[in-house]
Amino acid sequence: MAPVLFRAACPDCRARFELTAGALRLAIGASARTTFYSFTCPDCGSAVRKPAGERIVELLTGGGVRTLRLHSSL
Ligand SMILES: [Zn+2]
Repeated sequence: MAPVLFRAACPDCRARFELTAGALRLAIGASARTTFYSFTCPDCGSAVRKPAGERIVELLTGGGVRTLRLHSSL
């Protein structure tokens, strides 16, 4: 089976690249505002964090990205 690749871009150096599921992390919070995915830019090493909508969450979890469920303290 070919690994799933996710297309991503770095907001710092503007590089575009493809990442495997292992290079991505998904954090699901209590609301859309606290739900995001993160990765390290392979070009500049910057830690990138981006909001993840419902569709992105489905895509990432379906592709085997490690998911962290954040607990709300509200
Ligand atoms: Zn970068």
